Amino acid sequence: MALTSPAVPSTCCYCGVGCGVLVRPEKNGDVTVTGNPDYPVNRGALCSKGLNLQYTVNDRTDRLLFPQMRYSKSRPRQRVSWDEALERTAAVFKTFIEQYGPDSVAFYASGQCLTEEYYVINKLMKGFIGSNNLDTNSRLCMSSAVVGYKMALGEDSVPVCYDDIELADCLLVTGANPAWCHPILWRRVEAHKAANPATKIIVVDPRVTDTCALADVHLQLIPGTDVVLHQALARVLLENGDLDMTFIEQHAEGFEAYRAIILERTVAESARLCGVAEADIRLAAGYIGSAQAFLSMWTMGLNQSAVGVDKNLSLLNLHLLTGQIGKPGAGPLSLTGQPNAMGGREVGGLSNLLPAHRNLADPAHRAEVQQFWGSGPLSEKPGFTATEMFEALEDGRLKAIWIICTNPLTSLPNVRQAEAALAKARFVVVQDISSKPETLAYADVILPAAAWAEKEGTMTNSERRISYLPRVVAAPGEALPDAEIICRFAQKMGFAGFDFPTTEAIYQEHTRLTAGTTLDISGLTYEVLRQRGSVQWPYQAGAATTGTPRLFTDRQFYTPSGRARIHPVAVAGRSEMPDEDFPFILTTGRIRDQWHTMTKTGKVSKLRQHIPQAFIELNPQDAAALQVAEGDLVTVSSRRGEVRVAARLSAGIRPGVVFLPMHWGKLLGSDLHRANNVTSGAVDPVSKEPDFKFCAVQLTKYCKP
Ligand code: SF4
Repeated sequence: MALTSPAVPSTCCYCGVGCGVLVRPEKNGDVTVTGNPDYPVNRGALCSKGLNLQYTVNDRTDRLLFPQMRYSKSRPRQRVSWDEALERTAAVFKTFIEQYGPDSVAFYASGQCLTEEYYVINKLMKGFIGSNNLDTNSRLCMSSAVVGYKMALGEDSVPVCYDDIELADCLLVTGANPAWCHPILWRRVEAHKAANPATKIIVVDPRVTDTCALADVHLQLIPGTDVVLHQALARVLLENGDLDMTFIEQHAEGFEAYRAIILERTVAESARLCGVAEADIRLAAGYIGSAQAFLSMWTMGLNQSAVGVDKNLSLLNLHLLTGQIGKPGAGPLSLTGQPNAMGGREVGGLSNLLPAHRNLADPAHRAEVQQFWGSGPLSEKPGFTATEMFEALEDGRLKAIWIICTNPLTSLPNVRQAEAALAKARFVVVQDISSKPETLAYADVILPAAAWAEKEGTMTNSERRISYLPRVVAAPGEALPDAEIICRFAQKMGFAGFDFPTTEAIYQEHTRLTAGTTLDISGLTYEVLRQRGSVQWPYQAGAATTGTPRLFTDRQFYTPSGRARIHPVAVAGRSEMPDEDFPFILTTGRIRDQWHTMTKTGKVSKLRQHIPQAFIELNPQDAAALQVAEGDLVTVSSRRGEVRVAARLSAGIRPGVVFLPMHWGKLLGSDLHRANNVTSGAVDPVSKEPDFKFCAVQLTKYCKP
């Protein structure tokens, strides 16, 4: 049944570009979706995923329709009422908390959750249960960028906006394939380059991707050598006299220590280590050094690494050395993979964060939040991160886990270990829209959630743009919005402060808690968002503001000194290196028409046609040595497991490097298609983001027994 008037504005629920859409409810309960021509991000355009967005709502064949529960692991799950499911869950959580303490339970949520949902989960866990064991799959995605921003700029603050694309005359795209993974943003880059051919595009990627088609120079580096490359670029900038010494002296600190580091290695030595031509490094550095406005864009190639923070910091150093930040067309633009990873960061929805960029380690910040919530004392101990949660389930430190809107048994690294951990868990709750995720097999309680367009709330895209998403159609069966499920559960636990009359009341509480912080959105309401379409934070109450497209225009950073920090990042090796037994470097990534673990895009036949099957991409030289031809089945093995997929030969990948797409699991293939059977459990020591882009594997041609 249609609940709202035709064609209401909303936001695409796939990637962090955050395109505006118009959703029209039909009489049969379906929706149609078109691009919103008035939305500043995409101006009506949608990519292949956005163009098929309606199927995420209209195809309800796999939807979870009612709560299910089992009283013991040996008994089958049965349909139960919401009250029964939540009362039983509350009883189990209370028992574990009483017996083992609050750190014995955890929530593992998602960058697809709406901000209001993140807010209530965070309030429940950190304020009332008294543990910081709330992490999300954003840990697998953006946590290295978060740490990089905090260390260099003082807070987790993306300084630029998408309109800076059209103002830049040099763009560095590194560790990203936006032509496939952030397509609508990339179309803006293409249009800008077409209108301004003198604009220089530098692409850094171990593979030749569609993004490279626009590159003036492609630095096809050996995976993992990004820090060496960034230092070499810095050295050429220094040699050429292209550093902005006025900016460095007035607005930055740490230059001399980094200068000493970048002078330790010649550009020729760096070029050899990176596997690229010295002339290409000098060409790229020349483009950066002569740019009026230099913009960088990156995503998982830098973040998903055991040295992810170092990669981020050394990239940010390029901006600080050249003063290319806080002015039109210039600055770092981290691209988020999920639609609301940024909203989660705003509410403090990771196990080491507090709301509105407050610091977990700061007793005054914890007290401020405790007083606002009227809760018990907040724990100063950081909670388990995504991978740590599954380690803690395996060794028994964690007794219960509640998984919301994510599919860790396809998406976590070294996933066989995660599978074993979930099998050992004493109590598992899965809250999802779909009956397909592998986690459901382990669930003691299954809670059906409302999907995109079936609930209201807000999201924030990669450029800090907050948008309002309306409820357009009713959820099927007994499915409920995620925020309502959490608030009902909190009340079953006996906690006050969760009796919100509306979703907007949650949002209002969240915005009040941001007042006086660097991301102050105390002036925002649903009404403002509906009227303006979207707003970029900060947006203070009472201030004469229409939002903030660009940060640091006054060159005052969020550090105690007000100066940005140039960190003396040295080269560290923390990844599993190839050897005689496992001679290839494996890197993983996305394909154009699929998203995450395919629970939504996998339902759309048009999207499956692009690349219908999992594959391993390898260089023809390596294929010849292995006597593998195009389409042959290949077993890819590591020290942790194996994958068996068809070979795709490509001269666009370096010899010695192979690529597996991350999407496939049991859902549309078999568990032998799951890239994370082989990936490494290594993580960055600070951000705890996994090393998805680097591990050692062996390839053998598969011959049927
Ligand atoms: Fe959706 Fe991202 Fe495509 Fe835009 S670019 S339509 S946000 S998937």
